[in-house]
Amino acid sequence: MNIILLGPPGAGKGTQAQRLVEAHGMRQLSTGDMLRAAVKAGTPVGLQAKAVMDRGELVSDEIVSALIGDELDAMGAGVGAIFDGYPRTAAQAESLDAILSSRGRKLDHVIELGVDEDALVERIIGRYTCANCGKGYHDTFEQPREPGTCDKCGSHEFKRRPDDNEETVRTRMAEYRAKTAPILPIYDARGIVARVNGMAEMDHVTAAIERIIAA
Ligand code: AMP
Repeated sequence: MNIILLGPPGAGKGTQAQRLVEAHGMRQLSTGDMLRAAVKAGTPVGLQAKAVMDRGELVSDEIVSALIGDELDAMGAGVGAIFDGYPRTAAQAESLDAILSSRGRKLDHVIELGVDEDALVERIIGRYTCANCGKGYHDTFEQPREPGTCDKCGSHEFKRRPDDNEETVRTRMAEYRAKTAPILPIYDARGIVARVNGMAEMDHVTAAIERIIAA
């Protein structure tokens, strides 16, 4: 099974993708994570992407589609893919069709996480993760049980994304509205879009996604 999780920054795509990975042994393909890894490693792609990401703008379609193709090639053919943060433009949606069909895969579901934009800024600005295991936390909504210690792995190191500041978040949302939201009709026309209320409690969102992929 191959699915796209679509929604603005902070809608919960990453969290829900991780849950699908744990429950079904699928693979999360997050172009944002791949780009952050490239920036950290100082690869040519990372060097090119860093300033664009810091501004909250979109990295070129060619770069992200190449990353996705490489990741799919590195996966077993029978492993399902969850696309998180990709595609983000009509050109990427077109590339994804070609990338999938040339590998004998097809898109089963596009799940749109609908959210109230005003709440997103608070969600994003407060979020941080364990620097060791990646577990997500939030200043207001989900602190570790013991302050300063990760619930999952016991690490004391946490990190925040440099682009999770208000100004960049506003740009990222504007990019979503202008370039990403318009790709939904492409998938709507194929009858594969399901909409989930991303403002609901996390477990409810997970349950709704489970119902969609079981149908
Ligand atoms: P994300 O982690 O999905 O919020 O992505 C963080 C940043 O990486 C975005 O603000 C973009 O600068 C860049 N990025 C991630 N995925 C894509 C994509 N599919 N197309 C273009 N830029 C992307």
